[in-house]
Amino acid sequence: MTSLTPPSTTVQPGRIRVLKQGSRPLDKDAGPVVYWMFRDQRVGDNWALIHAVDQANKNNVPVAVAFNLFDQFMGAKARHLGFMLRGLRHLQRNIEETFQIPFYLFRGKAEETIPNFVRECGASLLITDFTPLREIRRCKDKICKRVSDSVTIHEVDAHNVVPVWVTSEKLEYSAKTLRGKINKLLPEYLIDFPLLQLPNKKWAVAKHSIDWEGIITDVLRKGSEVPEIEWCESGEDAAMEVLKGNKDGFLTKRLKNYPTDRNNPLKPRALSCLSPYLHFGQISAQRCALEARKARKLCPELLYLPATLKAIDTFLEELVVRRELADNFCFYQPNYDTLKGAWEWARKTLKDHASDKREYIYTKEQLEKAQTADPLWNASQLEMVYHGKMHGFMRMYWAKKILEWTEGPEEALAISIYLNDKYQIDGRDPNGYVGCMWSICGVHDQGWKERPVFGKIRYMNYSGCKRKFDVDGYIAYVKRLAGDTKKRKAEILLSGKAKEVRC
Ligand SMILES: Cc1cc2nc3c(=O)[nH]c(=O)nc-3n(C[C@H](O)[C@H](O)[C@H](O)COP(=O)(O)OP(=O)(O)OC[C@H]3O[C@@H](n4cnc5c(N)ncnc54)[C@H](O)[C@@H]3O)c2cc1C
Repeated sequence: MTSLTPPSTTVQPGRIRVLKQGSRPLDKDAGPVVYWMFRDQRVGDNWALIHAVDQANKNNVPVAVAFNLFDQFMGAKARHLGFMLRGLRHLQRNIEETFQIPFYLFRGKAEETIPNFVRECGASLLITDFTPLREIRRCKDKICKRVSDSVTIHEVDAHNVVPVWVTSEKLEYSAKTLRGKINKLLPEYLIDFPLLQLPNKKWAVAKHSIDWEGIITDVLRKGSEVPEIEWCESGEDAAMEVLKGNKDGFLTKRLKNYPTDRNNPLKPRALSCLSPYLHFGQISAQRCALEARKARKLCPELLYLPATLKAIDTFLEELVVRRELADNFCFYQPNYDTLKGAWEWARKTLKDHASDKREYIYTKEQLEKAQTADPLWNASQLEMVYHGKMHGFMRMYWAKKILEWTEGPEEALAISIYLNDKYQIDGRDPNGYVGCMWSICGVHDQGWKERPVFGKIRYMNYSGCKRKFDVDGYIAYVKRLAGDTKKRKAEILLSGKAKEVRC
């Protein structure tokens, strides 16, 4: 049973749900507080961490943060795990040195490691952050059953500007139906963060050091099929630099071209490039939204320029409305990644056209290896494989073509999600499931003119892209990108071999 709770804390009560009410009172005689960090991997601007420290200080008990590294997590590879672990290594240093909060890293199944830790340290309160994805929701259900009856469990939505369950109590039909609800709640929820307090009481138990190098080497070896990317530095500091750094920060240097250039795949830096950080929780969307609102002060020369104002509104629409719409979908639609999750009209039209003749049919392997007759599609696939982040505009074209070139919509959806999760640095995210569902199953979209294969699902084609941007330029750009990545990989391999020879 979950319910909203109004515990006395600086975190708005609406952000917190009680997943389990323990029998032991949370007072001076209570045990420590443990925050099981999963989605919001940051020290700054983290409502779950703020709540954990608040609760610990209120009862004068110590607080610790625990993170569980799953042996296998939704197909995550070196690209994802390397980025995540490097961010967590920074986080551990910061949280332990600056805030004297111990950080524990466990490996295995969280449904075992977290209840074990709670039992061993005698915690009375377990706090966790929120994700709508089923794997972790199931894991939380198991944790609720496994911890002792005395333990209370709170879940804090530290990811959304407006907590998903506060914005709406139901599955929303489209951005149009959600937008007004979010905007009405922004004055209450889009507020400045309080400073994270130091814990009053020290954690008494001595803690083992974490062998980051060993763990990172191990996950990189096991997930080497999809190697790390080099262009995107991990961690909270790097995330803030991308948001508002003096060198090439989005809000400081790149914002004004966002509305005009964001749909041009030849200008990838016109986008914020924040999705890796938002996905791994290394930056808070609320921080990004607050800074976007302050952006006029950051670039006073642009003050009141309509282009800047438009850019801020367009960015906030994507960052807040579209992103939180994806969480709404995955939270309220259990079939968020299958055809069953599509609206009735879309299922019908896709079924009506499932047996239409396709000009080409490709296998998953042919698609993965970018072996289609369409050089533009192949380029987008290679951008994802080598660069780790396909341009946002190309993602739509890419997924829609998979619908056109596979046996049917179920297969198209499964292949697009498989590839998206495997190669995108921001994959395995509600935005990814909803992006594929939007492109292939018309989720959050409307019906369009009926045509073969697509039925009433919105259609995109090569000539449409040609009218919008320099298609040949994009193909050449990705060719260079892939070539550079392969060259660097070869150099790294050679220098490794050279070192071996020297040894
Ligand atoms: C088929 C398909 C697959 C996608 N897969 C993913 C994915 O795996 N992970 C992911 O984060 N996004 C995904 N998206 C959404 C979007 O393409 C990316 O969020 C965006 O390209 C990320 O780059 P950015 O941060 O530079 O974008 P910006 O345009 O700068 O956007 C800023 C932030 O707003 C949010 N946002 C932007 N566009 C959307 C959108 N259409 N829906 C929801 N939120 C949005 C994201 O959090 C993004 O980081 C997908 C879209 C499609 C059509």
